Amino acid sequence: MKWALNQNTTDDGFVARVEKTSGQNISSCYQCGKCSAGCPVCRDMDLAPNQIMRFLQLGIRDTVLASRTIWLCASCQTCSIRCPQIIDLARVMDSLRIISQRKEMESAPNDWQSLLAGIWNRFKESMIYILQMDARSNLRCFNHIFLDSIHYYGRVFEPALIFNYNINSGYLFSNFLKAPVMLLKSKIKFLPVEVRRRDKVQKIFERVKMMEREEE
Ligand code: SF4
Ligand code: SF4
Repeated sequence: MKWALNQNTTDDGFVARVEKTSGQNISSCYQCGKCSAGCPVCRDMDLAPNQIMRFLQLGIRDTVLASRTIWLCASCQTCSIRCPQIIDLARVMDSLRIISQRKEMESAPNDWQSLLAGIWNRFKESMIYILQMDARSNLRCFNHIFLDSIHYYGRVFEPALIFNYNINSGYLFSNFLKAPVMLLKSKIKFLPVEVRRRDKVQKIFERVKMMEREEE
């Protein structure tokens, strides 16, 4: 695939923004490819981790923020450990998810317009889910529900995660048949596991929200 580099496709300030949010030096990446070679989900990504780094260096913002890669990244840290330039690429991916979500919020209109836009977007998303056209929306949806689960229970509570994901994504019976096997093998539990100091986890979420408000 070819990408055009011009004023319309690049954003000079983007790399600085990602560097500020992630605390990583993007320009020090020299494209050795070790991150992509070790990434367990690289084959399902539309841009390999090292390609994301190169695109960032070139300021190709929209392609990076629209890529499936940033939502597929499992934050496993393999790339961060392998990088000879000590770039924490997992943090870069995290920052890109944050920036992508903020960009969506910034582009939303206010007041009644936002209400109409919200209804319209919901309708559009439902149609897309039904047509199974937009895998990115599902990844984003999963990411939200996953974080909500940790926020509320202190760790992932799988039955609630699957239930919420199926309702919100429109795939009502997704993973349904796996549940009995997982229950039999005690891989998932009927009730949430008691987490010690759950309040500490909730405080982390509150702190992140506060930091986001301060940055706005
Ligand atoms: S943190 Fe993300 S990009 Fe890095 S190796 Fe793991 S899944 Fe791949
Ligand atoms: S391992 Fe580090 S230096 Fe090599 S391509 Fe990936 S981010 Fe760049």
